[in-house]
Amino acid sequence: MTMRGLSLMSDSSLEVDSKLVVFNSMRDISKHKHAEYVLRESELRSRTNIEQLPFGLSISRDGYTFDVNNVYLNMFGYNEIAEVFGQPLTNQISPQCRGQVNELIRECIQSDSNESMKETIGLRKDGSEFPLLISTKRVVLGDLTFTYAYLIDLTERNKAEEKIESHAFYDHLTNLPNRLYLIQHLKQALTLSARIGRQGALLSIDLDDFKTLNQTLGHEMGDQLLQKVGHRLKSCLREGDTLSRFGGDEFVMILENLSNRESESDDQMRAVCNRILNVLNHPYQLGDRKYRCTPSIGATLFNGNKQEIDDLMKQTDIAMHQAKEGGRNTVCIYDPQMEVSINARATLQSELRKALDNKEFQLHFQMQVDSTGHPLGVEALIRWKHPVCDMIFPDKFIPLAEETGLILPIGQWVLETACIQLKKWESDEFTRHLTLSINVSAKQFRQIDFVSYVHAAVKRHNINPKLLKIELTEGMLLENIEETIATMNSLKEIGVTFSLDDFGTGYSSLKYLKHLPLDQLKIDQSFIRELATNSCDKVIVRTIVTMAHSLNLKIIAEGVETEEQRQILFNSGCTNYQGYLFCKPMPVEQFEKLLRNGKEHLMLGGQESG
Ligand code: C2E
Ligand code: CA
Ligand code: CA
Repeated sequence: MTMRGLSLMSDSSLEVDSKLVVFNSMRDISKHKHAEYVLRESELRSRTNIEQLPFGLSISRDGYTFDVNNVYLNMFGYNEIAEVFGQPLTNQISPQCRGQVNELIRECIQSDSNESMKETIGLRKDGSEFPLLISTKRVVLGDLTFTYAYLIDLTERNKAEEKIESHAFYDHLTNLPNRLYLIQHLKQALTLSARIGRQGALLSIDLDDFKTLNQTLGHEMGDQLLQKVGHRLKSCLREGDTLSRFGGDEFVMILENLSNRESESDDQMRAVCNRILNVLNHPYQLGDRKYRCTPSIGATLFNGNKQEIDDLMKQTDIAMHQAKEGGRNTVCIYDPQMEVSINARATLQSELRKALDNKEFQLHFQMQVDSTGHPLGVEALIRWKHPVCDMIFPDKFIPLAEETGLILPIGQWVLETACIQLKKWESDEFTRHLTLSINVSAKQFRQIDFVSYVHAAVKRHNINPKLLKIELTEGMLLENIEETIATMNSLKEIGVTFSLDDFGTGYSSLKYLKHLPLDQLKIDQSFIRELATNSCDKVIVRTIVTMAHSLNLKIIAEGVETEEQRQILFNSGCTNYQGYLFCKPMPVEQFEKLLRNGKEHLMLGGQESG
């Protein structure tokens, strides 16, 4: 029978007494007190039934174990109570924490509040250690004071906590700290920087065209790349720096402890940025292929004072986007001037939204002629008559309209206005034969209902669809070639024609061109500009003309400004032209007047006016 059986399973005073004899001999408690204790203790025992407790319990006097429950025995790897009975309670505590626990017991015995708790390290019989929560309570029985220690093994809780923490603060793909961690750390870094007077830097590193990789090679490869990037970025860290995966393909880094002089800290920051740029520029081995993925890096310095986390984040973000706009694979350091241009852009955007309602757009028309100067067609070019800034050219607002989606209502307005114009020109002998070209953006062309709304416009205005020409660019055609061909064919059925704008600047191969139902190629003006002096351009132009002829396509050159250019084009076999040499883009009234007054008036050149 075990000591445990003796003491706990029976209320027999003899059996309990025999246990107390051992205890008392060690603790020297008077006989009278024993009897009193036994009585009270047994009362207490039946009240609480210590075996039902979900945690370990040890009852001790003056720091010496008197009784424990089974949970306690299991927790510390003992088989029976005899192994701990009469021993210092702290025998089950790691030596380095014993002082601390003795203190706790002392406090417990002495204090009035009589309950205290501590996280400590438990020591098992086999010598292994584990995290332990110990909570002590003073129990007074007559004039005897006992310490009840409740013990909880924290191993599982700690594991769970670690797991929760790692979920909350770490990114599982790269094992790097995440956004939450970084922001918390940035707070500390700012405080420290202010205190020690050293500068720091915040870097935002975004991968270029990561989406394309994900789409073309699959998410698994994308994940692999992110892991490899994380790994390479780690190699750029100096001691005390922090790297996080901020989300998606964006990594953010905090550099701490830079120089206290701005020019030096700026150099240090740039050096790290350039190192990152260099390290990330090497190709990656993804599966059995090599892949190149460049970063755009934005960075800003901080000195702890006066700076808010949100502001710093915004600054690096602005700088990073500037790096993207600056052609990618580059570093851009934040400059307050950047915000000025961003604000200007925001203003432009909000004004662009109102411009349609306020009827601020106009179409200007530019003539297209044959080799005799006879007008064949017209290109419609949009202008924005801004109430304050006067005339704004499309290069300044079309890209923004494309980004914001405003190009859709704007494009629709262009189509409507062009149809109205064609209808008007139908009844005029000077204009009824003219084709009218409109520029269509990729977003517009890719709209699901693009064909139907062009069809509806043609019907509504009852125009000859053969005179409506849609100018597309190479890039947008190749994006999804099957869909493109289908859309173009549907439009061709309506009768609309197509010109391939800016030809030569994209990547069109003969293979694709053959399948596209095009009517015309338009040689980009970049090949015309130096045609008289650049023999390479001459060769390109001649090649394009030959290619167009072999594909049975008409050919036109844009941006023709001089007679010399026109002559070279003519000699190369290109007989249709558009450019300042013949006519600049102009409002419709002026354009019609010009047509009536004859060809010599078409030779205008110079600045375009409103
Ligand atoms: P684009 O379609 O290549 O238009 C030709 C551009 O060259 C026009 O600029 C025109 O004014 C200019 N140009 C014409 N002849 C000459 C010349 O002899 N020399 C020089 N240096 N330039 C000449 P613009 O009107 O500023 O238009 C710029 C671009 O904006 C257009 O390039 C087109 O891509 C876009 N765009 C214009 N109107 C629209 C529109 O209604 N919708 C869309 N989506 N884009 C438009
Ligand atoms: Ca065009
Ligand atoms: Ca063009």
